[in-house]
Amino acid sequence: MKIERRDFLKGVLGGGLLLAAAADPAAGRSPGKEPPPNAVGILYDATLCIGCQVCVGACKQANDMPAEHTGPEPLWDNPRDLSAKTLNIVKKYGSGDYPVKDTVAGYSFVKRHCMHCLDPACVSACPVSALLKNPDTGVVTYDKKACIGCRYCQIACPFNIPKFEWHSATPRIVKCQLCSHLLAKGGISACCAACPTGASLFGKVEELRQEAKRRLAMTPGEVYDFPVAALGSRESQQHRAGRYIRQVYGESEVGGTQYLLLAGVPFDKLGLPALPDESFVALADGIQYAIYKGMVYPLVVLGGLIYMIRKGEGGKH
Ligand code: SF4
Ligand code: SF4
Ligand code: SF4
Repeated sequence: MKIERRDFLKGVLGGGLLLAAAADPAAGRSPGKEPPPNAVGILYDATLCIGCQVCVGACKQANDMPAEHTGPEPLWDNPRDLSAKTLNIVKKYGSGDYPVKDTVAGYSFVKRHCMHCLDPACVSACPVSALLKNPDTGVVTYDKKACIGCRYCQIACPFNIPKFEWHSATPRIVKCQLCSHLLAKGGISACCAACPTGASLFGKVEELRQEAKRRLAMTPGEVYDFPVAALGSRESQQHRAGRYIRQVYGESEVGGTQYLLLAGVPFDKLGLPALPDESFVALADGIQYAIYKGMVYPLVVLGGLIYMIRKGEGGKH
């Protein structure tokens, strides 16, 4: 797949050029592109999602986040995007003139939050290891005490996930941490526990991948069992299989992610970026090696990259 300039620059930043002088280059780095031994994640199936937004409310409750309204009135489509107050969001794609769900001509829902990348650019970009990938579960967590507010993670993330508390005197970076406080007590992520249809399903990443493949092999229109809340739980529901597009989003994008998605509408139409299979961290490692070999001081390169990003995007992120 062709790598766009923006993606390339994000990759270079994600690879840690800016952090060449950080104390311990290995600290907090991901263990690689293979999922950690007990990697957990979420499989979201847009064909099962009814757009109820129960997961959004459950996420706020579980993570002590305030309600948020984009406009003056608390209408159904508020809030409209991830923010420092909203860790997950359910968006709607629609052609506007056809009422059939999960078709390009019709409409589809899509749930967005941190992808928990196998080789996370945000972790690599953070100069003080405030973002860490758990070596056992693979969950990408954030430590406010370590954060210096540089926002390099925001620039590095290819999915535009981390948000910054601009309104706060002591701002934090805000993103989904897969409800790691609930996982620590043996629970599952709140969005999956609350989802009434099983559209958001918690489980081990390897098993979620297999479940996604099982669904892709289903005959559209035939009735099958679909687990609810978590893979391996006793609860399941029967649904007619959707007409999936032949892709598990997150299986290979930027080295793979622990949040996987299935849908009946191409993912670029759902706002998910088309990304290369190679992780930005690995891509940048190669570039970094070449630069060191040429004895070019990395911060000079960093200055040029930041200038290009700001110039190209007007400082928007
Ligand atoms: S989606 Fe972005 S914030 Fe989440 S782990 Fe990947 S790089 Fe980090
Ligand atoms: S895993 Fe937890 S923090 Fe992440 S979107 Fe779901 S409820 Fe929110
Ligand atoms: S709770 Fe489940 S069905 Fe409702 S919007 Fe969230 S993912 Fe979709």
